[in-house]
Amino acid sequence: MGYGIKLVVGIVIFLVLSVFLHIYTPELEIEEPSVQEDEIIQNEYTLPSAETFYTNPKVYEFPTWTSRPMHYTILNKEVCKNNKKIAEAFRIISQETDGLVWFQESDTGNVISIECEDAFTFPESDLETIRHGEASSIIYPDTKEIVGGNIKFFNINCLQWECSNYPETEIHEILHVLGFGHINSEESIMNPIGGNNVRRIDFKISSCLKRIYGGNESYSCEGISFLT
Ligand SMILES: [Zn+2]
Repeated sequence: MGYGIKLVVGIVIFLVLSVFLHIYTPELEIEEPSVQEDEIIQNEYTLPSAETFYTNPKVYEFPTWTSRPMHYTILNKEVCKNNKKIAEAFRIISQETDGLVWFQESDTGNVISIECEDAFTFPESDLETIRHGEASSIIYPDTKEIVGGNIKFFNINCLQWECSNYPETEIHEILHVLGFGHINSEESIMNPIGGNNVRRIDFKISSCLKRIYGGNESYSCEGISFLT
């Protein structure tokens, strides 16, 4: 073969290889996104950003329910031994906030879901560990908007516990779904252990509620810890 032919064959082989590589290179790149799919699946159960729902999400200074009245629903009234106390707790919170916070029984929109359960029976020596209730709230971390809450009340036998007509446990759990955390004072309705016969909502909690829901800046949320 002459030099000219060798050169032409060489160029042709080079071009074929170039086209071959060019065609296959993009396919190699296409395989990479599979790693991102794994990340999306992992993130599936985290709360989506509020910006997914609102183009201009309002950012609140404190955890805030945006609906008024706030809706609540009792999922199994027939099991709840203290339906009257639940209703009384909502009434007292409304009264203590001069009607700025009020509630209505409804299962639409953002809802406080309440469920009752029979309490476990503890040995007599273990009375202090009786759990009266538990609560959680769903709060967007970026806007502090509360979009839901769950409460479980345990039916307590009054022979095991000093029961009163004042809905201490009911108010405590409802305040949790309004975003309030515990306060370690024995005088506080938000004491984590309870059972101190507290018969009123702390002045600083009702003040804070007035600040949040009345927008009145002469009230403050000083000394309050919030759930996040
Ligand atoms: Zn608590």
